Amino acid sequence: MPIDMKKTPPTVTELTQQLIEFRDARDWRQFHSLKDLILSLNLEASELLELTQWKSEQAFEDEAKQEPMQQRLREECADVFLYLLLVAERSGIDIYAAAAEKIQANAVKYPVEKSRGKSTKYNKL
Ligand SMILES: [Mg+2]
Repeated sequence: MPIDMKKTPPTVTELTQQLIEFRDARDWRQFHSLKDLILSLNLEASELLELTQWKSEQAFEDEAKQEPMQQRLREECADVFLYLLLVAERSGIDIYAAAAEKIQANAVKYPVEKSRGKSTKYNKL
């Protein structure tokens, strides 16, 4: 089912369903082992990282606000996100719940009064 971009953006559940339909229409599930999905996720994350290679922090920040870099970032972020959805689906993880739980866990690990303005790891706070 094609995505109508004029409508409200799809939910994560709808995106996952579209991905599954895309995959199954091509009979690609046979290639999507959990191991290879995780590998692909990391390859896409590396493509995202590659965009920063040989650039200073400030030069990259500036470049990222403009085309064509903004479009390249958009595409690589989407690749990472879509593989993450496939990893979650394949392993039966509710990615919404997992992300919400992680935010809560991080709030406990990094209480505001101890961590505000610090980059110190939680076990050293
Ligand atoms: Mg890519």
